[in-house]
Amino acid sequence: MKSCMPARVFLLALLAALPCASQPTNQPATPAKPEPQTPQPAAAPATQPGGQVIFERSIDENGKTTTKATQAGETSAQMVGAPSLEDADREAIAFASIDLDAHLQTAGQQLAVRALITVRNAGKTPLPRIPLQISSTLNWERIRVDGHDVTFPVATLTSDADHTGQLHEAAVPLAEPLNPGATRQLDVTYSGTIAASAQRLITVGTPRDAALHSDWDQISPAFTGLRGFGNVVWYPVSSVPVILGDGSRLFDEIGRQKLRLSDAAFRLRLTVEFPHAEVPSIAVVNGHPIALAVSDPQNLNADVAGSATASLEAYTLGFESPSLFVAVRSVHPGANVTACASPEDEVSVKTWISAAANVSSFIERWLGPKPRQQTTLLDLPDPDDVPWETGPLLVVSLRASPPEQISGVLAHALTHAWMAPRPFWLNEGAANFMGVVWTERHQGREAAVASLEAGRAALALGEPASPSDGPGQPLAAAISPVYYRTKAAYVLMMLRDVVGEDALGAAMREFNAVQNSIPGGPPPGNAATAGAFEQELRKAAPNADLSWLFSDWIDADRGLPDLTIDKVFPNAVQSGNWLVTVNVSNTGYAAAEVPVMVRSANHTTAERLLVPARGSAVKRLLIQGKPIEVQVNDGIVPETQASVHLMKLGQAGPSEQGPNPSSAPAPPQ
Ligand SMILES: [Zn+2]
Repeated sequence: MKSCMPARVFLLALLAALPCASQPTNQPATPAKPEPQTPQPAAAPATQPGGQVIFERSIDENGKTTTKATQAGETSAQMVGAPSLEDADREAIAFASIDLDAHLQTAGQQLAVRALITVRNAGKTPLPRIPLQISSTLNWERIRVDGHDVTFPVATLTSDADHTGQLHEAAVPLAEPLNPGATRQLDVTYSGTIAASAQRLITVGTPRDAALHSDWDQISPAFTGLRGFGNVVWYPVSSVPVILGDGSRLFDEIGRQKLRLSDAAFRLRLTVEFPHAEVPSIAVVNGHPIALAVSDPQNLNADVAGSATASLEAYTLGFESPSLFVAVRSVHPGANVTACASPEDEVSVKTWISAAANVSSFIERWLGPKPRQQTTLLDLPDPDDVPWETGPLLVVSLRASPPEQISGVLAHALTHAWMAPRPFWLNEGAANFMGVVWTERHQGREAAVASLEAGRAALALGEPASPSDGPGQPLAAAISPVYYRTKAAYVLMMLRDVVGEDALGAAMREFNAVQNSIPGGPPPGNAATAGAFEQELRKAAPNADLSWLFSDWIDADRGLPDLTIDKVFPNAVQSGNWLVTVNVSNTGYAAAEVPVMVRSANHTTAERLLVPARGSAVKRLLIQGKPIEVQVNDGIVPETQASVHLMKLGQAGPSEQGPNPSSAPAPPQ
């Protein structure tokens, strides 16, 4: 493990500058003090009499490392009452690279970061100031532009992108405005504490205990979890303030931030200072485990804390919020998974590992013999903590749970490790799809359809009612989970019905094999890889008409279909056979291929029918016995209203219904 500098000297200096004793710990289980609601003095946490050296390393404007030191307490931040920047400024900023030197001091719940970031003006007008935001419990200390310190105002911004419900926003002044398309490197330093905070959820009425099981991000000796934008903003961002309870705006902003970072180069050097009794054994950055080099001088000097270092070399981020986990866990290798358990879950972790082996053989049949990478299962501190995932990392309580529930969750999580990372909608859609197929195998079709149906209402709400309502979110450009998770899984279920399970599996396997063989990974951006998947589908199912599915469901967002059984004409033909003519119309702007079923007392006949957008289609079915019921769609094609249409024959009017609800396990959010 390469260390960027003598960690010991660095950490001692860093710690001297951090007010460990003055910061209360704020564990989820204990009643905590109210979160600060008022702006905080920008430099307070780092100020120490006498000015201790914080950073010995410094990087000049040419990117060269120098020995110039910074004094703690020196800051050019000026706390101001109100933000001076507009949303247009915030939306204009894109990040080309993020290079972090992060220092955790777990006993004091402290984080100190030196970051070199390259920002690009993605807007249309020159920017005289750069907005930069971090969590409200972190404080800007120093910002350098072109090798010079700048004085900058900091305002507290109300935004639920952070668990505290607030961000500290610096407005970094530039000598020359940043022109559209131009980039600038900023050298920034910030620090503070990250304790658990339920503030944003309490504000919208969530009981404190439940809120802390959802907002579990914190720094602590046994478990540090920082999930990034949307949970805790531990790295600099430029975002539009959003509040919970304002529809899907927070989730859309999370998606927009991920998309804006997806081509950025990300690099991290990490130093962790820990108490002797709590040596961290696992570090995971952006879903990838990184090796920790631990140095614990317990035997030499009990007064000196232990330290661990790790680094992640620069790589293209992809559609993920940068996240950081460091924990004291025992590591259990298994089939395609590494489970990291806390002492309480030493026994139950075995259930997870055997479930992973079981689920692996199911995924192998679909997606190929080997995953791209191991999946990491990281045990959450409390059994009731809400699971979370990013890429090949699933953070979940590894407590004893019903095996079918564990397997359903793992069918989703492990698929991420098999599928190519791009396009993201296919990666997440496939994970959701495999979870649904697993549910279908083990709990039946009804439970599987119900697990899809659980997300349909939110999807229908998000979809444009007609093209005049806007372009919606084509899957390749989707930023909202209802599209890249819910709609993507529906599309794969529809594809399975249209081309068959064998052809869909072959296309997914071949797509993965090609993408994963590209040296250095698939190219950035979604467009190229999306086309590649369509090619594989055409190869696997040369006779299927897929053009309507690509054009109305993947490449563009035409909303959802809205089908109606217009008319049914049953005619007795001969020998007890009936010919039933079913007219179906579609008032939506997306075509749909659905099953049409006719039932008599003892028989069912089913055929598929493609109903064009804004049009109608007719199917004639032959059935033995007098027909008593006609059904159109079985819940696999999502519609704006009900996704199952029934018409009893010989009775008045059709009836519409959703599939039966069931208690199928939900995938981690
Ligand atoms: Zn997922």
